[in-house]
Amino acid sequence: MEYQALYRKYRPATWQEVVGQKHITTALTNQIKHDTISHAYLFCGTRGTGKTSIARIFAKSINCEHPQNGSPCGKCDVCKALSDPNNLDIIEIDAASNNRVDEIRELREKVKYPPIHGKYKVYIIDEVHMLTDSAFNALLKTLEEPPTYVVFILGTTEVQKLPATILSRCLRFDFKLISQEELEGLLEKVFKDSGIAYEKEAVSLIARLGEGSARDTLSIADMCVAYTDRNVTYKAVVEAVGATDKKVLHTLASHLLAGDVTNLLQVVDDIAKSGKNLSQLAKDLAAYFRDVAVVKTCDNYVDILKLPMADIEELKALAKYDINMVLGVLKKLSGLEQEFRYTQNPRALLEVVLLNIVTSVNELKPNKPMALDAPNSSTITKSVNDVKRDYSGSKVFGKLLISLRDNKEYKTHAMLGSVTKTIISGNELDMFVNGEDNYKSISNDDNLNVINKYLSQIDNNLTAKPILNENKKSLNVEEMLRDQFGDMLTIR
Ligand SMILES: [Zn+2]
Repeated sequence: MEYQALYRKYRPATWQEVVGQKHITTALTNQIKHDTISHAYLFCGTRGTGKTSIARIFAKSINCEHPQNGSPCGKCDVCKALSDPNNLDIIEIDAASNNRVDEIRELREKVKYPPIHGKYKVYIIDEVHMLTDSAFNALLKTLEEPPTYVVFILGTTEVQKLPATILSRCLRFDFKLISQEELEGLLEKVFKDSGIAYEKEAVSLIARLGEGSARDTLSIADMCVAYTDRNVTYKAVVEAVGATDKKVLHTLASHLLAGDVTNLLQVVDDIAKSGKNLSQLAKDLAAYFRDVAVVKTCDNYVDILKLPMADIEELKALAKYDINMVLGVLKKLSGLEQEFRYTQNPRALLEVVLLNIVTSVNELKPNKPMALDAPNSSTITKSVNDVKRDYSGSKVFGKLLISLRDNKEYKTHAMLGSVTKTIISGNELDMFVNGEDNYKSISNDDNLNVINKYLSQIDNNLTAKPILNENKKSLNVEEMLRDQFGDMLTIR
């Protein structure tokens, strides 16, 4: 038998099967009940929240001869005719590929012909914001004086791109992200129905990864089912989707907040060696700090997070840290995806970002100033002692990175991910760069100007000088630490 994706197989056919969007299904079924159907609807919302499914159910419901609780019966002649995707009464148009005025003019021509099977002819236009201006105008003319038997359902993920003239003629419904609880319910139903064994925690994890979209949730479920041979365990889901194990995230988060550079970089080393996508790791780590913030700030965190109790206990252990520290880390980890897209060396980028966080975490600790001009300030971490330098290159470099990020110079910031060592010699900040391409990019006048612009705000006398690293092999943790913090460093 041909395999059918879960998302297609479990597309709802009745109002009762729709997951979430109660505010919309109730309003629409009431309109059907009271026969107060509008001629134009606008469905707004993120992908995978049920816009097209609800549009199809609505189109069939208003045509069905014997609706059951407002839903299409699926048995009458009209229902049967409309279940053929080639029927001429429910017309679906994807504006992303049919955005020209000619297609809308053709639509206007065909609108003149009444429905063949039922009472209404329904046009479902997906991604309507993709229409060209002239196509919008053509559509508007139809919306102004539609024949009584025509219903338009316009769907969009970007409502702000629609002209006011269209908005004012439509009855608008805003689709919400589907809740974790609703997605879990859907998954359990689908698994039970398909005879697939599952762990409750696995279901929670898949629902979380679905991020409010039924389509994404079921696509991930599909992948997990294939990977696990119909027994969906938590561990298997983690492996299948490449998510980071919560234990690893907890360890990383603990080292970050404690300012423990040695162990932090050791864990990153282990993860990098396992071949994991480091961009995904950064994303997972950001999500983990979000959970810590939830535990710290919300009384009902158990209900919100829906995690196994062991995971909650670990989060509580981190909640002892100051909220400003937690939020500070979260802020620095958010929005890194952009930078990962630019970098050629994700590992170096991640390490620089994490070191950068440790520096700022230490700044936030009471009585532990990390000011640039503080002589003998006792360093980045409690396990790295005796840096006697009063003005280190790495400290200036750390400030530079923060400044570039804060000023949204993401591309330049990401480029500096390939810098392995910085030393101040005279009025120069020597930056040792891995890789010839990276060296060329950083040495480019435009980029160097950006770097020097922000460097001069930190120290007016310094200018950056990129130097190509002769040694091309990647550094191990201890070498990297020595490179960053100098020879006077003692690693316990
Ligand atoms: Zn019917």
